[in-house]
Amino acid sequence: MERLVIVGGGHVAAALLSQLQKQGYGGQITLLSAEGTLPVNRPLLSKDYLLGKADDSQLTLLDPQRLPDLQLDIRLDSGVCAIDRQQRRVLLQDGSSLGWDRLVLATGARLRQLQIPGSQLEGVCYLKTRADAERLRARLRPGQRLTVIGGGFIGLEIAASGRQLGLDVTLLEAGGRLLQRVADAAVAEYLAGLHQQQGVEIRYHSKVAELQASQVPGHQVNQVLLEDGSVIPTDLVVVGIGVEPDSALAQAAGLDCDNGVRVDALCQTSDPAIFAAGDCANRFNRFYQRQLRLESVESAQHQAAIIAARLCQQPEPADAPAWFWSTQYGHKLQMVGLPDGCDQVLSRQQADSARGVSWLYLAGNRLLACHSLGRPADFLQAKKLIVNATELDLERLSDGDIPLNQCLQLQPA
Ligand code: NAP
Repeated sequence: MERLVIVGGGHVAAALLSQLQKQGYGGQITLLSAEGTLPVNRPLLSKDYLLGKADDSQLTLLDPQRLPDLQLDIRLDSGVCAIDRQQRRVLLQDGSSLGWDRLVLATGARLRQLQIPGSQLEGVCYLKTRADAERLRARLRPGQRLTVIGGGFIGLEIAASGRQLGLDVTLLEAGGRLLQRVADAAVAEYLAGLHQQQGVEIRYHSKVAELQASQVPGHQVNQVLLEDGSVIPTDLVVVGIGVEPDSALAQAAGLDCDNGVRVDALCQTSDPAIFAAGDCANRFNRFYQRQLRLESVESAQHQAAIIAARLCQQPEPADAPAWFWSTQYGHKLQMVGLPDGCDQVLSRQQADSARGVSWLYLAGNRLLACHSLGRPADFLQAKKLIVNATELDLERLSDGDIPLNQCLQLQPA
């Protein structure tokens, strides 16, 4: 019987097991995770969980009782320290080892750490795991001063949760605008406005030099010192300054790595018996015709489905435009496609609606990406227009009252 070992217990693992159950996989599966919990629905951690709106059942992604047909061994405190490709074994931190015929690396990403004096003080938090979220939730008390370092999604979502819980929030971004890595300036500006309306103080070009503690009792952070000399009094600091793909095991095992574990369209690494998926994988995406490492739940699930199809000798799902979402103060931002190569950004809004706006990223008259706040129909229709590379009528596109799918360029008769 084939022995399948999955390293890493996040979204890839949960989706892979569910797909393997659906597709009738008959091998022996071992899931090795070092997180100490069953796979967790990570997007909830920075939002509903912090706000006390998500219970255990919503947080846990995987219910082993729903996988009755799999021969499954789940080990939640089993860190892997090396892969022996010759012997086809993984070496575990407790000194034991485990054989495999097929190995899936779903090791995700490591949080970038702040490397400045004071970064180890009490009250300096990060958010990735359920344990991190539990610690942070216990500290988010109304009236406290929260400093968020980093203006990416994690920083913005935590800032929003903090405000909703009644904290005073200051957000420090090193660059000149929010969401530098993932969104256009227009989207960033809109979200900045939303946060400012909600009372968040956003400070750009803010490089943190040191986190400082009060003298007594001594270890609790109580101010943030910026490189320009300014000081921000604080009770709590949350750091969200990005992630790095966790490809250390793969690299040490001699697999091709370059911005993550390099895999082909079928998620196969340079060793045909080893797959990689999720945040750690730099995969050849057939839709975009290039290597791409995406940090998104949808991408993790899609790649898990590809691996399951391979393992069960089924046709693998086709690639589609990437999509992401974020919720802040109840506003849902939905993003589909990648804006690279865009030569024009158009925004559209309904004439009579203050809420709801979409930004369309175009190359000529074709849509590359759509970022949409409160206009779910735009998001859904944009997906199809991107897949089909439909030619669009730009004048109609700018009119938010006209559905996107009625903005096609009419072909001459
Ligand atoms: P991120 O999107 O890379 O954003 C980090 C931000 O922090 C960047 O703007 C970065 O600027 C800035 N930064 C870096 N060093 C800094 C410093 N010393 N001081 C102040 N700002 C600094 O990553 P993230 O927000 O930490 O999120 C982590 C991961 O979780 C990502 O994979 C993200 O996609 C995922 N996530 C996704 C969602 C969602 O999709 N809704 C929600 C939460 C988290 P530079 O770019 O200039 O370095």
